[in-house]
Amino acid sequence: MDAKERMAIARQQPRELSPNERITNFDEVVFGFDEETAVREAERCLQCRKPKCVEGCPIHNDIPRFITLLREGKVEEAYWADRETNSLPAICSRVCPHEFQCEGSCIRGKKGEAVAIGMLERYIVDWMVANGKNLTKSCAIPKEHKVAIVGSGPAGMTVANILAHAGYRCTIFESLPVLGGMLGVGIPAYRLPRAIIAAEFESLKSCGVDVVTNTTIGKDKTLAQLKADGFSAVFVGVGAHSSRKLGVDGEDLDGVFHGVDYLRKINLGEEMTLGRNVVVVGGGNVAIDCARTALRTGSDKVFILYRRGKEEMPASVAEIHHLEEEGVKIEMLAAPVKIHGENGKLNRIECIRMKLGECDTSGRCRPVPVEGSNFMIEADSIVPAISQDVNLGAIDGVDLKLSRWNTIEIDEVTMQTSVDWVFAGGDAVLGPETAAKAIYQAKEAAASIIRMFEGRDLKEGRVSED
Ligand SMILES: Cc1cc2nc3c(=O)[nH]c(=O)nc-3n(C[C@H](O)[C@H](O)[C@H](O)COP(=O)(O)OP(=O)(O)OC[C@H]3O[C@@H](n4cnc5c(N)ncnc54)[C@H](O)[C@@H]3O)c2cc1C
Repeated sequence: MDAKERMAIARQQPRELSPNERITNFDEVVFGFDEETAVREAERCLQCRKPKCVEGCPIHNDIPRFITLLREGKVEEAYWADRETNSLPAICSRVCPHEFQCEGSCIRGKKGEAVAIGMLERYIVDWMVANGKNLTKSCAIPKEHKVAIVGSGPAGMTVANILAHAGYRCTIFESLPVLGGMLGVGIPAYRLPRAIIAAEFESLKSCGVDVVTNTTIGKDKTLAQLKADGFSAVFVGVGAHSSRKLGVDGEDLDGVFHGVDYLRKINLGEEMTLGRNVVVVGGGNVAIDCARTALRTGSDKVFILYRRGKEEMPASVAEIHHLEEEGVKIEMLAAPVKIHGENGKLNRIECIRMKLGECDTSGRCRPVPVEGSNFMIEADSIVPAISQDVNLGAIDGVDLKLSRWNTIEIDEVTMQTSVDWVFAGGDAVLGPETAAKAIYQAKEAAASIIRMFEGRDLKEGRVSED
């Protein structure tokens, strides 16, 4: 097929559950491609000499290579080409914001639609599962060093994966009763089925990784105690789990549920509903996930309040599309200024209209309140989902240097903290970010830990750029 023929193929669309079929349950909304669709989509890739998609992927996966193998019908080889650089392709293929990463850099997107790289990666992983193939490499013979991993999110999972396959004995300590970090207690199951997370942990356990839940490092055990217990290195991947407050009057009333706290409760199985009328505040994935979760747990009038315009929403276009299909309205250029209530329970939200003011160099404009434009919304609940902070309160026992944003300071190449046997990565270092960025830092940290054990120079260079 020549380039002209490839250019003539339109981007393939996945099948999806209809809005009516999905808003009463947490079933996965988007179906994977079948073989014919996957190969047709793979044919759209132009195999650029300098592939921008690889640069756009935080982990620098060799995307053109796995696409070539896929279109040659070598799906298993395509999986291993992807797995070489990414320990969690099953997860990344479903949750990565591809439009801002690999697909956002795809040359075909400049004049039309990017290659559906995420859907192709998903096809490859799903094919492996459907054909009963093993998703991980064989385990290595155990070596002497033990590593403690604090937090079971994608950062911790990646470190455990790499170190266990190199023969190091790892123990993951997780404060919650469930595993996976924000993959398990943040991202809803209709976007990431829980069986996928469970399978990753089964595979880690089969390679000798111990998993200890309901254990908070810093409270139940300190970092220093881990060292005394014989762990030669510790990786801290505790994420960013503290919901940021709106800072308006009435935020302590009943009926105020902060974004990730709300999602955590639902994902831990708490039966709760937010009432009929729900207002979610924010424009990112967390806000969208809260609104769609509220619909699925019995609320029938849900809307999102966002202080900028729709184009400025940081959530992915697909998520916004699904949200609107499900009947959630977005009230743009508006923000809450006060939460009103009676007998300790909220009943109305006072909002103000905003307009866009000065723009920064990236083109993002500052929202400015329009004086005298206040208006009221009747509501049963409000869910502020405006961001998360890192909570390192529990991590003590050693002198970890923190940044002025209260994130963990690391060496940018080695991911080593101010304490030489402690490494860190993911949201605890970056603030709320993405799974792929957490995986990138975790890969670098795992490589540094191995170098430390082997007595090599930690700064040999980044593995992701090799
Ligand atoms: C609602 C929501 C939707 C999102 N959607 C997307 C998306 O679509 N795509 C995407 O790429 N990213 C998304 N993200 C972001 C992504 O989930 C995070 O960037 C990623 O999970 C960070 O990984 P991590 O391993 O650093 O931390 P986390 O996944 O947060 O994991 C940290 C773990 O550490 C545990 N922990 C904390 N303190 C301790 C302690 N002291 N002792 C023991 N354990 C501890 C926590 O309980 C948690 O399980 C979303 C986040 C949220 C909240």
